[in-house]
Amino acid sequence: MEATQTHALILTGGTEGARLAEARRLCAGALCLTAEGTPCGVCSACRRVLADGHPDVTFLVPETKDGKEAKEIKVAQARRLRADMSLIPHEGWYKAAVIRADALNVPSQNALLALLEEPPSHARFFLLSQTPSLLLPTLRSRCAVRRLPDPPEETAVSPEARSLWEALRSRDEWRWVQACLALEKTPREELSALLDGLAALIVRGQDTGGEGGLGGDALTARHFGGIIDKIRVFQDMLEANVSPGHVCGALMAVNSEP
Ligand SMILES: [Zn+2]
Repeated sequence: MEATQTHALILTGGTEGARLAEARRLCAGALCLTAEGTPCGVCSACRRVLADGHPDVTFLVPETKDGKEAKEIKVAQARRLRADMSLIPHEGWYKAAVIRADALNVPSQNALLALLEEPPSHARFFLLSQTPSLLLPTLRSRCAVRRLPDPPEETAVSPEARSLWEALRSRDEWRWVQACLALEKTPREELSALLDGLAALIVRGQDTGGEGGLGGDALTARHFGGIIDKIRVFQDMLEANVSPGHVCGALMAVNSEP
């Protein structure tokens, strides 16, 4: 079941970009007009969430002044969020707050505590944190935790995984099909390791945006994020003795969806 059913979720692991992408995906899931849990990605609510333009999604990050970002989220900002979250949603069933939790100081964490202890029923909180252990235990205890896969070190990704990623990223259907066909006779364990590398490169691509990345387009990010989920399913299939040929056939189809 989707974690949006818990009112507060700490997203940790992965990279900062991957945590943010996952928070956007979960917000879209809560606010999507056509689906529940899994966002459709195409309705007006999903599009605005993924483009950071939905009135029921608030981002709590340090303030920027004269082009310089403050180190911490001020307690006044946390209080404003508390007031805002208690109002009914503008258009959907939910109001979501995406909080850069590592930037919360102790007073601002305390200001949020009451909100997390007795959240309005329409409120959903996503706390992005590299090190949740540094948050106040009282705050942490109010949240479920989801750990995203950590990207392996640069050297851990094989050249084969890299060329598979290049084929996927090109969005060139024929090139991708060819790349998948070439893997049909790969032994199970080797194929699973290759998929690990591919997933890591997708995560890294989501984080870098520019060169080697995905360009920061939220819908594109969603497309590739969905592929990561499927890769995990394919690895389970390999584990369950499904033939590499079958898995490659399924893999071939992942890039053709919108
Ligand atoms: Zn939608």
